[in-house]
Amino acid sequence: MTADSLYRELILDHNSNPRNFYVMEDADVYLEGYNPLCGDRITLYLKYDDTGERIAKASFQGKGCAISMASASMMTEAVQGLSKDKALQLFEQFHDLITGKLPEEQAYDALGKLIAFSGLKRLPTRVKCASLAWHTLKNALLGKTSEKVSTE
Ligand code: ZN
Repeated sequence: MTADSLYRELILDHNSNPRNFYVMEDADVYLEGYNPLCGDRITLYLKYDDTGERIAKASFQGKGCAISMASASMMTEAVQGLSKDKALQLFEQFHDLITGKLPEEQAYDALGKLIAFSGLKRLPTRVKCASLAWHTLKNALLGKTSEKVSTE
């Protein structure tokens, strides 16, 4: 099996069985994100630990293409337990990967299985599908929750 087909399997699996896919009743923050180009919509929920600096739980709800759903699912797994700063750093690394600024070989240590999305650098129109959940996360972490997040 090639890496590409392995990554495709992973994305399809997270799309058909999204992890952390629920409305979090006790969330500290929740925020909606929308990608008008594709019609992807998500609501992201975060619960912080007692210090308020670390993500204790992340979940989402939404509807959209396979890439947007798989990305949100894998993101909620990846950021659970991370400090806000570390999660923001992961966003930057993920964004650099899917826009082709971070070579795949260097990305694996930082991103683990999130490098499944590395093929998107050849599909620029889908980059917003994969980054929707992450842009929503960034605004939520920075406390910019008064407005819906839009990729446009
Ligand atoms: Zn999409």
